Amino acid sequence: MEKRDELYAGKAKSVYLTDDPDKLILHFRDDTSAFDGEKMEQLARKGMINNRFNAFIMTKLEEAGIPTHFEALLSDNEALVKNMEMIPVECVVRNIAAGSICRRLGVEEGLDLNPPTFEFFLKNDALHDPMINESHIETFGWATAEQVAKMKTLTFKVNDVLKKLFLDAGMLLVDYKLEFGVFHGEVVLGDEFSPDGCRIWDAETRKKLDKDRFRQGLGGVIEAYEEVARRLGVELP
Ligand code: 5GP
Repeated sequence: MEKRDELYAGKAKSVYLTDDPDKLILHFRDDTSAFDGEKMEQLARKGMINNRFNAFIMTKLEEAGIPTHFEALLSDNEALVKNMEMIPVECVVRNIAAGSICRRLGVEEGLDLNPPTFEFFLKNDALHDPMINESHIETFGWATAEQVAKMKTLTFKVNDVLKKLFLDAGMLLVDYKLEFGVFHGEVVLGDEFSPDGCRIWDAETRKKLDKDRFRQGLGGVIEAYEEVARRLGVELP
């Protein structure tokens, strides 16, 4: 597999073309951002941890029958993935209230959400990722009704798999954001699953073990990411 030109640089990952038009290389950088890129820092080891963490989770999801773009771990910071047409929509499931739902709806952080909620957001930093609904997605052509239904089903299926995985390791999966793409006509999970894009709390103490440590200036960001990885059994050098 030959790495070619950079296709795109996001806030935490860069995407490279390869000699295979169906494959891309994701490079996980140490850059850490919050508030649509307003707060930015480099945290040593973060790229490597998220790359290995993501590989571990994507493999678990594949094993559970959820199609993902993940193909192989290439190095500490790089993974080989399918080259998909990305759907510019973020899918969020919440098991416990935290973050924007508390601000928007005035609910208290820590409230159990039963059944879990599902929300769509438009992936657009300039507009601060506004919340959207299925009607917007269809009207503006971001995805078809069929693709919307598939994204929802797969996002909830991810919840079934990962809630248990985290709980078995003494952690609560509070919420998470997924992004999907289309590969040869099929809706497939893309982007990454790492503590950058989900909330994870210790099940006993409810200590925050995710990017909220960075957003809220709590410190110990990388230590928390490493702890989550270690508890799940992700191998880290
Ligand atoms: P909230 O809407 O509460 O800000 O976020 C809900 C969940 O989705 C959290 O786990 C958060 O980390 C994740 N999330 C929402 N938007 C983004 C985003 O633009 N980037 C990343 N990495 N995660 C996001």
